[in-house]
Amino acid sequence: MATCEFCRIVAKQQPTALLYESADVIAFPDINPSAPIHILIVPKKHIETFLDIAPEDAALLMRMTQAAQQLIRERGLQHSSYRMIFNGGTAQHVPHLHWHLISRGR
Ligand code: 5GP
Ligand code: ZN
Repeated sequence: MATCEFCRIVAKQQPTALLYESADVIAFPDINPSAPIHILIVPKKHIETFLDIAPEDAALLMRMTQAAQQLIRERGLQHSSYRMIFNGGTAQHVPHLHWHLISRGR
């Protein structure tokens, strides 16, 4: 059993609503949302932090970008406002790379 919370979600060992899934990226609602739309975009590969991203992850980062673009367009967030953030250092609580997509909605 995976010990990382997000690896458990990737392995379907912990149920969550999936908002996006491809071969190497998933997205699901944040369990403790800070806005009406708060989605976590997560690579299936366990990369711990922003500083652990390596050159061979370039295609994976592009796929995370594509996931974010689809989630934003599906919700029409380009017509209102949205933020994409990642936390690092002591601000990061789950040690598995993820982007937060946060918006008040349309
Ligand atoms: P961080 O501070 O690491 O950038 O943010 C981690 C985020 O993951 C937090 O906003 C927290 O609410 C969310 N989170 C932590 N554990 C779980 C979980 O098991 N499921 C979901 N859906 N979100 C989680
Ligand atoms: Zn992990």
